[in-house]
Amino acid sequence: MRTVLLGAPGSGKGTQGKKLSERFGIPKLSTGDALRAAVAGGTELGKQAAPFMNAGKLVPDQLVYGIVEERLGQADARKGYILDGFPRNVAQAQVLDAMLARLQQPALESAVHLHVDDEEIIRRLLERAVQEGRHDDKPDVIRHRIEVYNAETHPLLAFYQAQGKLKTVQGTGTIDDIFQRVVAAAGG
Ligand code: ADP
Repeated sequence: MRTVLLGAPGSGKGTQGKKLSERFGIPKLSTGDALRAAVAGGTELGKQAAPFMNAGKLVPDQLVYGIVEERLGQADARKGYILDGFPRNVAQAQVLDAMLARLQQPALESAVHLHVDDEEIIRRLLERAVQEGRHDDKPDVIRHRIEVYNAETHPLLAFYQAQGKLKTVQGTGTIDDIFQRVVAAAGG
């Protein structure tokens, strides 16, 4: 399985990606998690990324390419992987395709879009803000992240539709019901 999970912040990519990773024994790469780890570790990358993340903006593309290429180049990613949070705009998607070719890996097989309506997204993110206390889960930052998603990430749906890879699944219901849909969509 070589798939990317698409969907608004709070659509459940992290939850479903983790379950896919466990079920199929392949790595999940979340650029958001990797960037948060870099910030927590006080690395140079983390210092550069933090102001963008705290404002709900995308970090500059160049900062994420290194994370992704390094991870996809590891041995365990040769039999498959799940991408969560990357690519996040069309430029990143084109770089991903080129990167996979350079690493002599097969092309991405599917892009699974978790569809959740805006009201539900906002409800979930506000709830997560209370539970996890993420720096970027404040109401004005949440609003901005949704705007960034609509402007920059949503166009990826058309990009993958044109490649014949897009599968949209309903992202509401129980976690297990959604998982069944995601597995079917990703061809597992
Ligand atoms: P969300 O819950 O909004 O989907 P993520 O955990 O995926 O959040 O990402 C958190 C933040 O990390 C984003 O708002 C952005 O600043 C940064 N980020 C993560 N992945 C990328 C990426 N591929 N390109 C640019 N910025 C990214």
